[in-house]
Amino acid sequence: MTAWLDWLEPLAERLGERLWLAPSCPLLHVPVDLAQEDRLDAGIRDWLAFAQRAARQAAWLKLPAWPTTTIGSFPQTAQVRHARSEYKAARLDEAAYRQAMRAEIERAIREQEALGLDVLVHGEAERNDMVEYFGEQLEGYAFTRFGWVQSYGSRCVKPPILFGDIRRPHAMTLEWATWAQSLTPRPVKGMLTGPVTLLNWSFVRDDQPRPLTCQQLALAIREEVLNLEKAGIGVIQIDEPALREGLPLRRQQWPAYLDWAIACFRLAANGVRDETQIHTHMCYSEFNDIISAIAQMDADVITIEASRSDMELLDAFVDFHCPNDIGPGVYDIHSPNLPTQEQIVQRLRQAARRIPPERLWVNPDCGLKTRQWPEVIGALTRMVAAARQLRQETAQKTAPAKA
Ligand code: GLN
Ligand code: ZN
Repeated sequence: MTAWLDWLEPLAERLGERLWLAPSCPLLHVPVDLAQEDRLDAGIRDWLAFAQRAARQAAWLKLPAWPTTTIGSFPQTAQVRHARSEYKAARLDEAAYRQAMRAEIERAIREQEALGLDVLVHGEAERNDMVEYFGEQLEGYAFTRFGWVQSYGSRCVKPPILFGDIRRPHAMTLEWATWAQSLTPRPVKGMLTGPVTLLNWSFVRDDQPRPLTCQQLALAIREEVLNLEKAGIGVIQIDEPALREGLPLRRQQWPAYLDWAIACFRLAANGVRDETQIHTHMCYSEFNDIISAIAQMDADVITIEASRSDMELLDAFVDFHCPNDIGPGVYDIHSPNLPTQEQIVQRLRQAARRIPPERLWVNPDCGLKTRQWPEVIGALTRMVAAARQLRQETAQKTAPAKA
């Protein structure tokens, strides 16, 4: 509806009462009201209703304007990495390892509550890497011990080898997400790596078409999404940072890739109820040339890396009316420099020139696993303060003028 308003308001200004609204063709071919179809199977009726997902989510989430969140990971401290390596070397037993991870998750939740963030995350302490972690729990994957490749700068990853049919023998993130949610009344965002990224950041079997392998991954993630939802996790993020880098070299082949990649994302995400808010996150991306594909992903909220381009990256959203909420990263997490509150406010103002402010979220560029806690707390304190400043300004603007 906001997209329509953006389009109609300038016309209304110019034409005033002379502006008439009508559909572009008669409505004789569209049934009027689904509410009376009480004999339809409830499951099928749900599919037919074009329900207002955003309104239903807003009703229970009750988020303020300029809602704040983070992208998923919190610092992978020496302690966390030590616990993991001790566990892998069998010097720490399962129970002690779980205890250590739970304690770390609790710390992340308490820090986020103290910071005043609106949508929390569990912090991904248990994950070595966002692809390897899921690969290790799925059937169909094998792992090297020394197969390191460069990720960025001096950071390296060991892409898992996807060799067989993918199957999810058990839930992969449920325990950590539900533990985190049990600690706080605020919504905790479940955190998953999307099928396209699992594919693009693995070494993949080449005896079957990639779209087919990706569909198998999508079905596994879909099961995880539904498990999370059933366990009371009402906000779920499916990360797709590698979506863009899978684009074929030849532009001619882009539509075919995007077709199956987006379909796989949707397969993973679209089993949920209207109330469940789906987020996705993308980084290292130029969006202008694939913006319509991104809209087709149909995520309720899209967080993207945008601070390094000073929000120029959002130009894509000016001409293309994305119906979704957007969280343009407000500071660069790759830099140890702390952003100032003023800088963050400036960036959000720049964003609001391109996207209606009621659809904007406030979040960092990417996950915070490579940073130290003091830096993270410093930066997020300023981010939350910036959001509060803008909320106040918005409230003053919309408050009725005193006579
Ligand atoms: N959820 C992941 C994290 O925060 C996303 C990482 C990424 O986009 N590369 O670490
Ligand atoms: Zn990212």
